[in-house]
Amino acid sequence: MVLARRIPLYQKASDFSVETSDETPLQAAGLIIRLLQNQPMKTKICAVINADNVKDALNDMKKAESADLTELRLDYIKNINESKVKELMKNKKQKIIITCRPINFGGLFRGSEKERLALLSRAIELGADFVDAEFGSEITNELTENKKGSKIIISHHDFKETPSLEKLESVYNQISQLNPNSVKIITTANSINDNFIIFDLLKGKNNLIAFCMGAEGEISRILAPKFGSRLAYCSLDKEKESAPGQINLEEMKNLYHNNLINKETNVIGIIGEFAENSMSKYMHNPNFVKNNVNFVYVPFKVAKNELKDFMENFRKFNFKGAAVTIPHKENIIKLIDELDETAEQIGATNTLVNDNGKIKGYNTDYYGAVYALKEQAEIKGNKILVLGAGGAARAVVYGLKREGAKLTLVNRTDGKAEKLANEFKVGFDEFSNVSKLVKENDIIINTTSVGMYPKENDSVLDGKDLFKGKIVMDIVYKPVNTKLIRMAKKKGCKTVTGDRMLIYQAVRQFELWTKINPGFKDMEKEMNKNI
Ligand code: NAP
Repeated sequence: MVLARRIPLYQKASDFSVETSDETPLQAAGLIIRLLQNQPMKTKICAVINADNVKDALNDMKKAESADLTELRLDYIKNINESKVKELMKNKKQKIIITCRPINFGGLFRGSEKERLALLSRAIELGADFVDAEFGSEITNELTENKKGSKIIISHHDFKETPSLEKLESVYNQISQLNPNSVKIITTANSINDNFIIFDLLKGKNNLIAFCMGAEGEISRILAPKFGSRLAYCSLDKEKESAPGQINLEEMKNLYHNNLINKETNVIGIIGEFAENSMSKYMHNPNFVKNNVNFVYVPFKVAKNELKDFMENFRKFNFKGAAVTIPHKENIIKLIDELDETAEQIGATNTLVNDNGKIKGYNTDYYGAVYALKEQAEIKGNKILVLGAGGAARAVVYGLKREGAKLTLVNRTDGKAEKLANEFKVGFDEFSNVSKLVKENDIIINTTSVGMYPKENDSVLDGKDLFKGKIVMDIVYKPVNTKLIRMAKKKGCKTVTGDRMLIYQAVRQFELWTKINPGFKDMEKEMNKNI
């Protein structure tokens, strides 16, 4: 009682506070040293169990044993009662957070507050390690006062947006007054830039769990250990996500290697409107680990109108590098400091390297296209038809011209192909002549986005003019076997799929970021596991 009265006064008077009741004296000393060195505390991975019955919840608790702790959502279990709580708690093998979120706080529990308090109090009696209580709910004070051996997390969720840093700091201070063991602040990211508000909020706080929900908030979950959130929440598997944007346990541990991320980790990401569809994370992340470099590769889902602010945040948080994809390869140039000679000539960049605050753009697409095609064909002197005149086409045309190909460009919007052809001094024709052009050329390369997921059954050509002897390359890699590739194979053509280009260009990117050549075979092996 005396301590409870004094704690707010201690907190008010102190510069830092450290939660040590769960630690040995040695661990507590380590925490204090880390805090004084301004290093974030080690983040623990928490798998969320949201089964609707006890049997499934028990199965899930077993599956979740490889996480550091589990959050059991009582509100998901149909007709939850004290005997069900007892059965669940009897089988607990690791640390557990008990949560019973009512409807008005975004959960599924429809009973009274009295019933909810009875369930949570029972969980406390049965040895719940943590209880999550909502900031603003009637029963939070009562739980905090009667927490016994459990710890109380007081949580605040914003299901609409991420408010300003000032507003969130004020929420944090109000929750801290209630004297919880941990404060949890979860917001919704409507833009990638919202994540940076949370990263700022985490600064200097060692008892805070914070991240953004939503697909745009994915990086706040992955990078939780870099910025010091006490917990990183994940789902048990893809189908069991309890919140949008949640990453599953397998990905958290074995793709992003969350346990290896720390304050010093170099962040690389793919900047694109649909960055979440990128395959490159499957190549780079395992090879960072294999090559023992402290890097992580994440999706930066950035819409066109968010790019400028995003690049300011990229600089502010000193991210190490990026891959750049649709629709930013050209627009991003004005937001960086320098271009290497090749990217300058191509007029597009797909790779950024941040060298002590100076961001330089490179282009590895041209390299990827040339090496992928060389696996199947001689380039020099061959007649090549390039379909498309977007960012990737620029790199392909540059690379093939440098290798001595005889090029003709066509594009849905004729004017764009004509402009590109004039710029690179290669041939141009109208799209209406595509049938004749397919017959005349030895190699046909699709650089348009037609056939790309989710429109896998589209093709820029109808295939009737293809025949054995032609080589058909499609740079679309999701799916690898595009409709165009499938048609070309049927006609007996040699084919080059987009994953080959992707792997070659990724090898170059890896080298630019880490100064290490990961080896084509190792990158290919990881890619093949995921296509
Ligand atoms: P982009 O700059 O947006 O260009 C898109 C191109 O596709 C333009 O030429 C556009 O023609 C054409 N196009 C779009 N919809 C069309 C339709 N319905 N019919 C005919 N043409 C259409 O995109 P990008 O950066 O060049 O990327 C294009 C594709 O290449 C994407 O699928 C991307 O994933 C892939 N890519 C693969 C690699 C790899 O390593 N394998 C590397 C880079 C890119 P208009 O000019 O008429 O709009």
